Amino acid sequence: MRSFEEDLQSAIAYHGHVCSGVVLGVRMARLGLKKLGIEEPHCYRDLIVYLEVDRCLSDAVQTVSGCTLGKRRLKLLDYGKLAATFVDISTNKAVRLAVVAEDLPQEGEDPVAFWQGVADEDIFKVENVLLEIRPEDLPGKPLRRVVCSSCGEAVLDGRELIKNGETLCFSCANTPYYRMMPK
Ligand SMILES: [Zn+2]
Ligand SMILES: [Zn+2]
Repeated sequence: MRSFEEDLQSAIAYHGHVCSGVVLGVRMARLGLKKLGIEEPHCYRDLIVYLEVDRCLSDAVQTVSGCTLGKRRLKLLDYGKLAATFVDISTNKAVRLAVVAEDLPQEGEDPVAFWQGVADEDIFKVENVLLEIRPEDLPGKPLRRVVCSSCGEAVLDGRELIKNGETLCFSCANTPYYRMMPK
């Protein structure tokens, strides 16, 4: 198992600076892994992390857990909450951790030193939870590939929608998140 210092250094290197988010993310991931009994996350393929925020903390959770989007082992839920759920899909054990600490380091205070003085119990709420992960959300080869009948682009993993009998991608079935530039 990597030491806290090793995890912290790789998280800082990946994130680009040291901040409370990075320290909390390292602490959160290490505690989540400990609760699941996973000592070598970088060699372990059955760990999935559901992240509830895309902030500094997220980079640290990613580097410590080894879970990335490309491995399909990192799921982003855009809830704006400093929380994450760590799931071992081989045992179905899952633990959700949320930051509940309200005191933060003062401006200019060293976040590493500040958080060193705060116990895990005073930083995190920890809950054992149950998740039902759909087969199409699991790592591995795509279970399905279809072509959107409107834009002609391929849609993987059952993300297509059927509307009036037509197979459509999410953007064509709904309002897309972008607009076309006038030609
Ligand atoms: Zn940061
Ligand atoms: Zn489409």
